[in-house]
Amino acid sequence: MSQTTTDRYAASSQAHARAARLMPGGVSSPVRAYKAVGREPITIRKGKGAHVKDVDGNSYIDYVCSYGPLILGHAAEPVVAAVTKAVQRGASFGMPTQAESDLAERVIEAVPSIEVVRFVNSGTEAAMSALRLARAATGRDKVIKCIGCYHGHTDAMLVSAGSGATTLGVPSSPGVPGSVTGGTVLVPYNDLDAVRAAMLGHRGEVACMAVEPVAGNMGCIPPGDGYLQGLRDLCDEFGVLLLFDEVMTGFRVAYGGAQSLYGVTPDLTMLGKVVGGGLPCAAYGGREDLMRQVAPDGPVYQAGTLSGNPLAMAAGIATLDTLKDNDHDAYRKLDAATRHLEMGLGEAAESAGVPLYLTRVGSMLCPFFVNNAGDTVEDYADATRCRTDRFAAFFRTMLDEGVVLPPAQFEAWFVSTAHDLKAIEETIAAASKGFAAASAIA
Ligand SMILES: *Cc1c(COP(=O)(O)O)cnc(C)c1O
Repeated sequence: MSQTTTDRYAASSQAHARAARLMPGGVSSPVRAYKAVGREPITIRKGKGAHVKDVDGNSYIDYVCSYGPLILGHAAEPVVAAVTKAVQRGASFGMPTQAESDLAERVIEAVPSIEVVRFVNSGTEAAMSALRLARAATGRDKVIKCIGCYHGHTDAMLVSAGSGATTLGVPSSPGVPGSVTGGTVLVPYNDLDAVRAAMLGHRGEVACMAVEPVAGNMGCIPPGDGYLQGLRDLCDEFGVLLLFDEVMTGFRVAYGGAQSLYGVTPDLTMLGKVVGGGLPCAAYGGREDLMRQVAPDGPVYQAGTLSGNPLAMAAGIATLDTLKDNDHDAYRKLDAATRHLEMGLGEAAESAGVPLYLTRVGSMLCPFFVNNAGDTVEDYADATRCRTDRFAAFFRTMLDEGVVLPPAQFEAWFVSTAHDLKAIEETIAAASKGFAAASAIA
């Protein structure tokens, strides 16, 4: 890194040194520490639209978008207005408000599988709660999950859990009891034979199969043809509940999530990220007969002091209503912008002689730095063979050029409705330099 480059990040560097004394890694969530890209994190002061500004005053086009929630970009007008109005009426009551039903109606209308919904505060909580409900409803304990899929950091799911965990090279974590993960059966993503074998091998013991219908925590890996329907059929055959973790894909790949895009309906669905419009909010929901088993209608306990809080509800409602405007016009725009970016990245990589495998579903995108032209990425094993050293060089150059990306090969990129043609073109221009830097690494 040149001297000028160091100066460019002086305030971020100082801010990070202070934070690192106070908090593990100086962060509130591990991937933010930039360990996988060999440099210190930048510290953000503010964001507007497609851009964020760091504490040094550098401006970046942002493809992190808070890891997905900010589908309308930073400080989107309707969200700011709704949250401002809500906070003036009081931030939290611990008593019901109408806003919860207002958001619940929208969620139930949008997501095919959801007849009844419960709001929680994070995707982790949604996954933990849905898993509890699935176990209670079936009277079984085991869960099948895909290697490389992330369902939050709840104990039972923290096995081969993708992105953050993958990046750190810890397939699970100390402090997670073997007695808990012992009930978690692992299968490769996009492999129906492995699921059948797992269900046969644990016949009568499996409560649910949990899956990201589009994998987004080992890069972005779309489901193969017939994979999701195959899971539905196997679950029906073996009396296993199908859980779609749509925390990332819900309201992202389509208004009704991946289940509406691919036409496969799970029994339970987890939501998060976009549903809270950038505020802490998540949800789980599904068939009425299952959801009525949740307390206080039923015996499955799950609670939360700040759950359904009015600020998060307001941000979620404003986000969903904006996405729905003009017959869901936002999704056509997101699709066009992201496709443009995908093509530009592909051409820039080819010019630089960098083998790249690009995946995209709607406004989720991932450039995999594969070893050889023609290599594809269909599961976790493929993803982890990628050239993370090349990704890191690419990332650092992009940052210097004013584009901030999710700081690991195993993260999806997110495009927002605020990413206009100019932002996309600037990104592609920066990427030419990024790929040149990547190609310099043998
Ligand atoms: C982000 C994510 C989670 C966890 O959500 P948090 O709000 O970070 O706890 C769970 N599942 C998937 C698929 C995610 O992308």
